[in-house]
Amino acid sequence: MTPAGFDLLVTNGCVLTMDYGRRTLARGAVGVAGRRIVAVGDTGEFEGARAARVIDARGGIVMPGLVNTHTHAAMTCFRGLADDLPLMTWLNDHIFPAEAALDAETVYAGALLACAEMLLSGTTTFCDMYLFEDAVARAARKAGMRAVVGEVLFDFPSPHYGSLESGFAFTEHMLEAHRDDPLVTVAVEPHSPYLCAPELLTRAGALAARYGAPLVLHLAETDGETATIRERYGRTPVGHLHALGVLAPNVLACHCVRLDAADIALLKAHDVKVSHNPESNMKLASGIAPVPALLAAGVCVGLGTDGAASNNNLDLFLEMDTAAKLHKVDRLDPTVLDAETVLRMATVDGARALGLGERTGSLEPGKRADLIVVNTRRPHLVPMHHPASQLVYAARGSDVETVVIDGRVVVQDGRILTFDVEAAMDAVNRIARRIADRR
Ligand SMILES: [Zn+2]
Repeated sequence: MTPAGFDLLVTNGCVLTMDYGRRTLARGAVGVAGRRIVAVGDTGEFEGARAARVIDARGGIVMPGLVNTHTHAAMTCFRGLADDLPLMTWLNDHIFPAEAALDAETVYAGALLACAEMLLSGTTTFCDMYLFEDAVARAARKAGMRAVVGEVLFDFPSPHYGSLESGFAFTEHMLEAHRDDPLVTVAVEPHSPYLCAPELLTRAGALAARYGAPLVLHLAETDGETATIRERYGRTPVGHLHALGVLAPNVLACHCVRLDAADIALLKAHDVKVSHNPESNMKLASGIAPVPALLAAGVCVGLGTDGAASNNNLDLFLEMDTAAKLHKVDRLDPTVLDAETVLRMATVDGARALGLGERTGSLEPGKRADLIVVNTRRPHLVPMHHPASQLVYAARGSDVETVVIDGRVVVQDGRILTFDVEAAMDAVNRIARRIADRR
C-alpha cells in the first residue's frame, strides 16, 4: 500500500486465491500497489481504505489471470485455413507454404489479434513459439500482456533469420534485450527432437542454462514422431533428450502425448514441466496425453491451446472444460482431473511451468497483480454451489469482464483498453485476403 492507499482495490468478489492453502474468500477483496498485490482479505477488512481506483466485482469471481503455456499466437492468420486434414498434409501442404510468406508485420498483426482473443477470455500470460518473435514481444507489450517468447530453432533455414547460426545469435540478442523487462521473458525454443539435430538441442540447453531461461519445445506429440526418433536414435523422444543431458527443471515440454512409464519417471526425476494441449491433440488426432499419470507422478502440468490453426480458438475456459472431460471418458473414471485440479493447471501450475511461479499464477501479497473478474450474473452461471466447478464446466471466456495485468487495468466491462481491436481484426482480414489470393 502506498502512503496514499491502494492504487487499485477490487472488492465484493468471491476471491479464489489459488494459493497453496487453496483459500477462497466468499466476499473478498484484493489490494494492489503499483505492479503488485499487497493485500488479500475479506471486503470488510478494507472498509475505509483509500484507493485511487476501485473495481466492484458485484459478487463475481475474482481469480488469477489464466496462463496459456503453449501458443503460436500469429497463427490466428491461418485460423480455419485448412481443417480436417492429416497432420503431415496439414503441415506440409498448407501451413509451411503459408508460413514461408510471413514477415514481421504479418506476425505482429496475427499476434495482436491473438492478444485480443486471449485478453477477452481471461488469459493474462502466454508462452509463444514462432518466427519473428520480436514482433510477438512487441504485440504483447502493446496489449499489456505477460508473455514468454522464443524464436523457433530447427535444422533448416528460417524465413526469418536464415541460418541456424543467426537463429542462435537472434535468440541471444533477445535474451539480452529483455533481461529486465517487467512483462516479456525470453525462452530458448528448439522446435522438437524430430526437426532439431542433437547438437542443436544440447546447444539450446546450454544457452538456456547460461541465461536461466526456459527451454520450450514440442515433445512426443505423435506416434510418427516417436517412431522417427526411435529409428534415428534407438530411444523414445524423452529418452533421447535425457541421453543428450537436456532434461532439466527449466524445460517445458509441450504435448507429451506419447509417453511410457519410463518417460514419465524421467520427466519427474528431472522436474521437467509439461504443457497439455487437449484440443489440438484431439483436432489433429494425435492422441490423449497421459495427464492423470503425470499428475500422479508429481509432474507439474500446465494447460495450453496451441496455435489457432489447430484448435481453432485461444479460449482457456473451453480448454479447461475439454481437459477435464477428455480424461474422464478416456479412463472411464469421472473422478480424474477434477475441476480444482484443472483450474490449478490453468493458473498456478501453468505459471510454475513457465518459471514464473514467483511472479504470477495466484493472488498472494508480493506477486504481480495479474487478475480477472468473471461476471457470474449470467443464466448459465446460476446458482454458485462450487466456484471451481462453475469456472471449468459452465463458464466461457466471454464471461470475463475485467482483466488486470501487472497492476494495470487492460480490460474493463469486456472492452480492451490498450489497443484498437477493430483495427486488429481488419489487419488480419487483409492478411487473409493476401493468403487466399496466393493459393
Ligand atoms: Zn505447437
